[in-house]
Amino acid sequence: MKTLDNSLEQEDVQEELKALFSDAGFGTPEIFGAAPGRVNVIGEHIDYNGGLVLPAAIDRYVHIALRRREDNKVRLVSAQAPGNVAEFEISEDLKPEEKSWGNYIKGVVVGLLKAGFDVPGFDAAVTSTVPVGGGLSSSAALEAVFGKTLLTVTGKAEAMTDIDLARLCQKAEHDFAGVPCGLMDQAAVILCEEGKLLMLDCVDDSFQHASFEDPDWSLLIINSCVSHELSDGGYAVRRDGCHAAAKILGVETLREVDPSKLDEVLQNPEFTEDMVRYVRHAVTEIVRTLDAVEALGNRDYAKAGELLNASHASLRDDYRVSCPELDFIAELAQGQEGVAGCRMTGGGFGGSAIALVRGENVAELTALIEEKYQEKFGIEAKIFETRPMGGTRAWFA
Ligand code: ADP
Ligand code: MG
Repeated sequence: MKTLDNSLEQEDVQEELKALFSDAGFGTPEIFGAAPGRVNVIGEHIDYNGGLVLPAAIDRYVHIALRRREDNKVRLVSAQAPGNVAEFEISEDLKPEEKSWGNYIKGVVVGLLKAGFDVPGFDAAVTSTVPVGGGLSSSAALEAVFGKTLLTVTGKAEAMTDIDLARLCQKAEHDFAGVPCGLMDQAAVILCEEGKLLMLDCVDDSFQHASFEDPDWSLLIINSCVSHELSDGGYAVRRDGCHAAAKILGVETLREVDPSKLDEVLQNPEFTEDMVRYVRHAVTEIVRTLDAVEALGNRDYAKAGELLNASHASLRDDYRVSCPELDFIAELAQGQEGVAGCRMTGGGFGGSAIALVRGENVAELTALIEEKYQEKFGIEAKIFETRPMGGTRAWFA
């Protein structure tokens, strides 16, 4: 299994970053950092229902090179934003600017200052293999890699816990990118460990690492490369529906519903037809997530795959956040040799699917999906294999 610290790829990336750095007139880097993207294996749309989520860090990274400056200026270049240099001066009063990728870094700098850390001026170069806007959290990776690298370069890596750094990055996303996200993305890219899934409890942000390490099995991420905007504000409608249902039941979150009493609960006369479907998804998905942790830990891939397939059906039929492209991919993959299961992952209405696949069947499955998806929708799916990888880190040049 590839590791972040000694992979050949990292050597290549360091060379690429050094070139970017000197081309920008920044000299030579003092420190490097890397943060992975993430994928949620199961536990969809239950973070706001008090459930557990089960993300893994993926084998795609945002890498940076950084050097401290004598003054308080910040200059940033990115291989993915050619010609678009972001600049600002270190200050607690920084505000986000319209459409600047530097906002994510500003948010992290402000968070560190407010937490009492001295942040020097710096020059930095970024390059990334996490698809931007692909639902694999390039934004969280960008925040995390700057947070970790700035703490490390100033000798403060031990002064902030990883979960606090995740919260700081989440706040940067809220305040500087305007995205009211939960903690999953930032927690996953920072806290994940190789060969493990992160089991994050969204009630109190407590977490554990669940084992998923098997050289014979891989996760395949299949990006549909479509994104459907819903006119009804798809996310907010569902979240509000779940919260309204919880209120009717007199519970804080749907996590408190006893799954063995679900049929009875769904008879509630105050529930709308939508609420019945939302509650059924949330309560069953919470159970499936716990069952999946156990199945993967026992290497019971048939069971884990069944749970992924059931999650997809629930998201498609009850929660109604899938789309024809994701349904096509999931249904096609589910019938193939070596595939334990496949589901849509992320918020839905487009984005990616995830399949649990035997390593020896990955190449064939990839070719098949590429061909059939292109034939059906005229779109090229972007597919890559991963295993659970380690989280964010920084190392001196
Ligand atoms: P996701 O997190 O799903 O990839 P977001 O819309 O949340 O999508 O974040 C994408 C944004 O993050 C980009 O529009 C850009 O501002 C910033 N970003 C991510 N990666 C890079 C990069 N390599 N270089 C510059 N900006 C980046
Ligand atoms: Mg994002």
